[in-house]
Amino acid sequence: VTPGSALLPTSAGGVYLYPGEFEAIVHGLGSAASALSPDPRNSLVSPPVIARSVIERAGYAKSFPHLLGTVLTRSPGGTADEPDIVLLPAACYCVYALYEGARLEAPAELSVGATCFRHEATTEQGRLRSFRMREFVLLGTEEHCRPWRDTRLAAVRDWLASLGLETDRAVASDPFFGSENRLLKALQAEEQLKIELLTEVGDGHVQAVASGNYHKDQFGRVFGISDGSGAVAHTACVALGYERLALALLHRHGPDLRSWPGHVRKTLGLEEALG
Ligand code: AMP
Ligand code: ZN
Repeated sequence: VTPGSALLPTSAGGVYLYPGEFEAIVHGLGSAASALSPDPRNSLVSPPVIARSVIERAGYAKSFPHLLGTVLTRSPGGTADEPDIVLLPAACYCVYALYEGARLEAPAELSVGATCFRHEATTEQGRLRSFRMREFVLLGTEEHCRPWRDTRLAAVRDWLASLGLETDRAVASDPFFGSENRLLKALQAEEQLKIELLTEVGDGHVQAVASGNYHKDQFGRVFGISDGSGAVAHTACVALGYERLALALLHRHGPDLRSWPGHVRKTLGLEEALG
């Protein structure tokens, strides 16, 4: 097997191996994305598991039970047991839990990276079950969060355009909580709580490569976070999916990284990475 630059399928659908050249793109995206992020000291990496209680309280287990990956362990006697952790479905959940009970004197902006798991039902191009995400998260007031989400997402969109990726901005219909309820879903779409940047990641396959989410005070309420005035904090996050971005770049510029436009190679540090 010559790894090349494309994802390598495994016997588990939606689970891929990453050849060195693919990783060079992901690594380059990661370094370049830190330019979009706040103070590097406010940056975190999460392990791929999280307390089940956090995911349950945040509403994910209820809204997306079919996507959540749970862990099964066995007691020394062999009895099956579901421990206190689940597979992390999105990077930002650990941040709301980290701020549990906090009172924010000023808005807090963090960046968090993680390998995420979602038990996706299909495995078309760009739909993985295990994938990596970087998220920027803001905790503050209503006045801070929505404009911040829009500004950050616009910056991501400009950044992607500079890498040759034109994206469509679309209001998403599957927001982060209460998706079972059709009325609530329609309302959330109307309120534009989730906005995605869509682009082609393969022939005829358009996927969201980034999303911007405004959660109102949902997580502030659940985790008891308050703003400077003592009111319940609002939160927002902007997420980048590294595999989809790398696939989109490969689709746009071709499988031979050495023939990519000079400025893209430079921004992603590919010269150094590939020699
Ligand atoms: P979401 O929380 O659904 O908005 O996801 C955030 C970002 O993660 C998306 O914009 C994608 O770039 C990426 N992502 C989500 N689901 C998948 C998946 N199944 N496979 C690959 N990337 C994904
Ligand atoms: Zn998020």
